[in-house]
Amino acid sequence: MVTLRIGFGEDAHRLAPGRPLVLGGVELPSPRGAVAHSDGDALLHALADALLSSFALGDIGDFFPPSDPAFSDLDSREIVRRALAEVRARGGELVNAALTVTLDAPKLGPHRAAITGRVAALLGLPEDRVGVGFKTSEGLAPDHVQARATVLVAAT
Ligand SMILES: [Zn+2]
Repeated sequence: MVTLRIGFGEDAHRLAPGRPLVLGGVELPSPRGAVAHSDGDALLHALADALLSSFALGDIGDFFPPSDPAFSDLDSREIVRRALAEVRARGGELVNAALTVTLDAPKLGPHRAAITGRVAALLGLPEDRVGVGFKTSEGLAPDHVQARATVLVAAT
């Protein structure tokens, strides 16, 4: 019998000048980027948390403690690969992923195809199973980037 599991994750980082802005593994042109001990990829951090939550495995802070210097400037694609491996080790197969980024600037629409393609490849999914939406905070939170991710996992 197949069981369906939902996973949800959320992440946010403060923005500061001179930092790279990386979302979905894509470095975007921006004068500001995420302040983080890793590459600050809020989209992939939310996605990794969503994957882990589908099997109630906690969050990426448990797997990659910020206090551990080994994870300094870690490529967040590695975090997602590790989370996906945890799901697969439990018989989970990812069905689709739905992702939203809230960022006031720069506008992300022109980068949707690049971000979708990169995330789909990372997850081993066709691009029509990776939905990526962009919002602004309407000026309420101009100094941070936020991401939310939902995944559907089929497990036998
Ligand atoms: Zn993060």
